[in-house]
Amino acid sequence: MSSPENDSEISDAARVLRRVFGYDTFREGQQEIIEHVVGGGDALVLMPTGGGKSLCYQIPALVRRGTGVVVSPLIALMQDQVDALTGLGVRAGFLNSTQDHDERRLVEAVFLAGELDLLYLAPERLRLDSTLSLLARGDVSLFAIDEAHCVAQWGHDFRPDYLALSALHERWPDVPRIALTATATKATHAEIASRLNLGAARHFVASFDRPNIRYRIEPKNEPKRQLLRLLRTEHAGDAGIVYCLSRSSVEKIAEFLTANGVAALPYHAGLDARVRAENQARFLREDGLVMVATIAFGMGIDKPDVRFVAHLDLPKSIEGYYQETGRAGRDGLPATAWLAYGLQDVIQQRRLIDVSEGDDAHRRRLGVHLDAMLALCETVDCRRRRILDYFGQGSVACGNCDTCLSPPEAWDGTVAAQKLLSTVLRLRRERQQSFGAGHLIDILLGRQTPKVAQFRHDSLTVFGVGTELTESEWRGVVRQLLAQGLLAVEGDYGTLVLTESSGEVLGRRREVLMRREVKVRREPAAPKSRGAAAAPAELSEEALPVFERLRAWRAATAKEQGVPAYVIFHDATLREIATRSPSSLDELSKVSGVGESKLAKYGQQVLDTLGA
Ligand code: ADP
Ligand code: ZN
Repeated sequence: MSSPENDSEISDAARVLRRVFGYDTFREGQQEIIEHVVGGGDALVLMPTGGGKSLCYQIPALVRRGTGVVVSPLIALMQDQVDALTGLGVRAGFLNSTQDHDERRLVEAVFLAGELDLLYLAPERLRLDSTLSLLARGDVSLFAIDEAHCVAQWGHDFRPDYLALSALHERWPDVPRIALTATATKATHAEIASRLNLGAARHFVASFDRPNIRYRIEPKNEPKRQLLRLLRTEHAGDAGIVYCLSRSSVEKIAEFLTANGVAALPYHAGLDARVRAENQARFLREDGLVMVATIAFGMGIDKPDVRFVAHLDLPKSIEGYYQETGRAGRDGLPATAWLAYGLQDVIQQRRLIDVSEGDDAHRRRLGVHLDAMLALCETVDCRRRRILDYFGQGSVACGNCDTCLSPPEAWDGTVAAQKLLSTVLRLRRERQQSFGAGHLIDILLGRQTPKVAQFRHDSLTVFGVGTELTESEWRGVVRQLLAQGLLAVEGDYGTLVLTESSGEVLGRRREVLMRREVKVRREPAAPKSRGAAAAPAELSEEALPVFERLRAWRAATAKEQGVPAYVIFHDATLREIATRSPSSLDELSKVSGVGESKLAKYGQQVLDTLGA
């Protein structure tokens, strides 16, 4: 599809892809983006997590003259990113607040000498005149703005430092800029373009689908047991991330898993910075660790073999959820995104929104985000279709999510909804006081609790009219009414109140479709991993022990160099080596993921390991 006049550039890019990264083909979108930026154009790139954004600026930086400057908020990861690039033979460095004066001076000198291909910078650095004048004295080939959604207030991860990035364009009008993000609702997309002055840039929107991730959302009954079952039956020995909302639940779940024989570490902003860094480093370097974390963890983590991402609390938005789950299965092998959520989550999140700082418009935005997330949880439709829809991308039912694999029944919940709503109404009328979900359900089920006796609620006409459903089904009804905006939560105690639309149901002008709770079932044996050792499911009997030998060699080498194992080679690469069993350096060089530098560094060791 390339036009003849820039053929040489394309082949430059393809050559770099092969020589440096050891890959044969570009992924969807990469080639066009790279070609455009190499040619000096500005670009706004929307690609899902794990889609392959880094290459989109790394290759142009290698092809163009000068240094590519990468703005990234992920200070804690810059060292690893630079290590990974250095391992590929790329001349890379970073400047951030973790360095002392001398370290910074050294990097600056190398940059000024024109000996850096890539320079990573924290956004706050760009506010400093000293940084700007440094850049002005050097030769900048491009600006890459990573995690560009951080500039958007509409998004979920706003960082004020990013606002200053619009100035780059004024100061360096001729240097191409490429902004990249995995967050891509229309609103965020538009805001990034306007705030970064990227109106004239070309917009590249890749497919947001991550087909190897299986999406599953189930009602939260006994969260710890549910989580443990998932880990034991489907992900024994696998690396994964468990997200919790609060620091205290992070601690508790990490202890619980450890006590149950799962190697788990906690991560949250309340931990000592040193402990945090150490836990992150262990997660990246060791095989098969589970990180229990708040969402403070994970952005920019390029660990390719995370096999599952589990959420024990309801995420605040689909954007956040998709970014978090996208950290699973970057290597393209099967991975699981699992979420357990319950009524309490909805109540808690609504309350958090009510008490959140900021103006009404901000609260309304949070409400819209949450509603979309709830609708995803309660849908009877394909989860993936829902998600892609949300990002404005059409698709068909995926066959790899819980609703596709065991379709839930939709049922006509109109009568149940009327019963519940009229109970809310009655309680409101009778007393100037209202009650939470538990009490409402007791009334519907006709239970003689002390509270029922105290308020004489057994005399209500709705008392005992709901025995056709179980308690957990009633909780499902409440959740779904909340999700559909037919019921709302108010105040500190999670009091349920009617909304403007409730009247339509009470007045029989509106039907309510609900999702029937699917009994928690052992998942079918479709593509799933069988533990770290067995992750490469397709390995033959002969190849498996070879793969294990290669992994052992990799672990030793990584340890020696103090880098994560995947910086040496990805699992997928080791798998291909084990399968092909190359007998010469030349044959080895054809394996995907084996570039020039790695061949020179490790080629002989790999052949020796194979021959052993
Ligand atoms: P993102 O930044 O979009 O989340 P990355 O740039 O980290 O994704 O890429 C995800 C993974 O895919 C990385 O491990 C990377 O090495 C790999 N990758 C990227 N492009 C290619 C390609 N063309 N061929 C094979 N692997 C690729
Ligand atoms: Zn599906």
